[in-house]
Amino acid sequence: MTAPRYDDFCEGSVWLVGAGPGDPELLTRKAERLIGAASVIFHDALVGPGILELASRRARLVYVGKRSGRHSKDQKSIDALIVEAALAGERVVRLKGGDPSIFGRATEELDACRAAGVPVRVCPGVTAASAAAAGIGTSLTLRGFARKLTFVTAHARAGEELQLDWARLADPEATLAVYMGKAAAPALSAQLIAAGLPADTPVALVENASLPDERHFHTRLDLLPLASRTALGDGPALLLIGSAMEQSPDTEREQVMKFGVKVLK
Ligand code: SAH
Repeated sequence: MTAPRYDDFCEGSVWLVGAGPGDPELLTRKAERLIGAASVIFHDALVGPGILELASRRARLVYVGKRSGRHSKDQKSIDALIVEAALAGERVVRLKGGDPSIFGRATEELDACRAAGVPVRVCPGVTAASAAAAGIGTSLTLRGFARKLTFVTAHARAGEELQLDWARLADPEATLAVYMGKAAAPALSAQLIAAGLPADTPVALVENASLPDERHFHTRLDLLPLASRTALGDGPALLLIGSAMEQSPDTEREQVMKFGVKVLK
């Protein structure tokens, strides 16, 4: 067995690190080590305080989050900040919610580092869809029913209509894990039904997955807009659509008793 490498974070280099969905225990050991070794950490809105506490007291923590509607820095400025810090000889962690390679603008940051000759590597993380499924105690795939798992973002640029290949997405044998889907819930519901997905397709909504204020709701595709509008709060939420989200009557009863969630069905 090869020994783990502890010399892989030189001064003047960058790691894009996946912070996972929020619970610090869902960090990888590698992520924890890199966070502790960084001299500067550029972090997102979705990285919780419990995780930033793992940074060295000497490290500089820089918030570069851009939750929808509250953009603080554009992507190009973030790329520039990372490169500049590395060229100044810092050990740079770019800490991102979930897995950096899933809807995380990782490519831009990797390209910017490479173009400047800055060594850069990626540490994967637990993505929100995995945490959401774990939270509701279900599987994202289902033998014989959900053979395919599609990660899709329903985020549209300001003022633009959501453009997705609805015919392909309306696959009754797939689970759709929708990131940034809250605002698009009405379009998702209408378009998927129009493209042939049954109106009673089960949907699970998971807000703040893995965090103390995690909440889940079960609904069906035609009721998704209502459920999303009335049940969800301000936290990040993931929508899981497909037959794998079907609840057994036992599971429903168990959840109501254990978590006090309202089952919207
Ligand atoms: N790279 C991240 C996703 C970034 S996109 C990952 O792999 O998880 C941001 C979206 O992820 C949010 O709008 C929300 O849809 C989802 N998300 C992130 N953290 C979440 C959480 N704790 N609970 C539910 N959804 C979450």
